[in-house]
Amino acid sequence: MSLNQLVVAKFGGTSVADYQAMSRCADIVLANPNTRLVVVSASSGVTNLLVELTQANVNDERRLSLLKQIAQIQYRIIDELGSPQDINAQIDKLLSRMAVLSESLELDRSKAIMDELLSMGEQCSSVLFSAVIREKGTPSNAFDVRQVLRTDSHFGRAEPQIEQIAMLARDHLQPLLVNQVIVTQGFIGADEQGRTTTLGRGGSDYSAALLAEALTAFAVEIWTDVAGIYTTDPRLAPNARPIAEISFNEAAEMATFGAKVLHPATILPAVRQQIQVFVGSSKAPEAGGTWIRHQVEDAPVYRAVALRRDQTLLNLHSLQMLHAQGFLAETFATLARHKISVDLITTSEVNVSLTLDKTGSDSSGQGLLSESLLQELSQHCRVRVEDNLALVAIIGNKIASTAGICSRVFQVLEKHNVRMICQGASPHNLCVLVDEAEAATVVHALHKNLFE
Ligand code: ADP
Ligand code: ASP
Ligand code: MG
Repeated sequence: MSLNQLVVAKFGGTSVADYQAMSRCADIVLANPNTRLVVVSASSGVTNLLVELTQANVNDERRLSLLKQIAQIQYRIIDELGSPQDINAQIDKLLSRMAVLSESLELDRSKAIMDELLSMGEQCSSVLFSAVIREKGTPSNAFDVRQVLRTDSHFGRAEPQIEQIAMLARDHLQPLLVNQVIVTQGFIGADEQGRTTTLGRGGSDYSAALLAEALTAFAVEIWTDVAGIYTTDPRLAPNARPIAEISFNEAAEMATFGAKVLHPATILPAVRQQIQVFVGSSKAPEAGGTWIRHQVEDAPVYRAVALRRDQTLLNLHSLQMLHAQGFLAETFATLARHKISVDLITTSEVNVSLTLDKTGSDSSGQGLLSESLLQELSQHCRVRVEDNLALVAIIGNKIASTAGICSRVFQVLEKHNVRMICQGASPHNLCVLVDEAEAATVVHALHKNLFE
């Protein structure tokens, strides 16, 4: 095999949930001799349990119960492995470390400790997955991704350091890929001092793309529980159809606007190196999936509908805005200092409305709007916060320049209270903000009208 055909395969939580799932995924890896780097998520449910362990209000009894549930998931896999001695010891070591870390959080609620604890799910699953591949007769080892996935020290939502990752991966990871399958962790990294960091929930997709970029891979495969990217979340609309091929731009918009099948940042590294991305189901690899490419054959006006729940609308009112300069600059500077990523914006004479990206919250699920931020904003305007909103995005091509789209969409939305509309900035989307309670109905209705 030549490494310039390298394929990086990422398996999500449900794909590595138990021994049978891991075994199916190992078959997918072994079916392609170019697949030499495997990136795994924590087994399904484990990160949620770890997140609960990091919360301030867990008592000792609950803590022990959470640790026990995590241990059970690991032991069920070990029980089915043929030669578990050394694996057992490695997992036991990780489990004891989880216990120590969760206990130390009682004394010191440090974000560094939280990230170290959150990283444990991927550390376990990578050791186990590698053992499953070895069991099938192919040389394989687990590799600690923290040796190469360098990030800044923003615990819970660390920023990858692209150039350093490329250098470190070429030195420490590439040589290992020549004669074995390396299994490594998604979601986690390390800062310059070697402290463990995490990339935010769902970050394993991003890890796979970052490693593929660093190693200038030929393709990244995202193996999950659906056979590709669909015209909308198949859980919301049973008639959603898989999309065979989609452009980087459209896929990036979909991920940004809530199609959970891809972490929002996944496409960036792929675009930088023009690496094609495949999304498919590890339960049904034969069903095919979606290819995300730079150039695609067809560019329909309507491609998909995406939904992002849990949106916050921030309305800022200030008479200073009238015929004045600098209000928006000041507002955005404040938000940037608090590391808040703004999504949609509309303005009037004396008001500006912004929606905030909850996916910008960190791995341990901590909220975005801190007291100190609200206080700072209140110093120069009146602030109103509205929660329980959802953003519905219609993704496609030439949306801003095709006649008739708005009238069609607003006919569907006739009975719903639309809190905010954004259209025109991108040729690829039209977004509306609606009440959370109506979101599923709106997606369903739009999908029916535009795709069925
Ligand atoms: P993994 O654990 O493998 O990373 P995720 O749960 O993060 O998997 O993502 C897969 C899920 O994304 C699917 O089960 C599906 O419900 C959801 N999803 C949302 N939008 C879409 C879409 N447009 N196409 C396919 N799946 C979608
Ligand atoms: N295990 C992490 C999570 O659940 C990362 C991932 O699965 O992508 O968020
Ligand atoms: Mg995911």
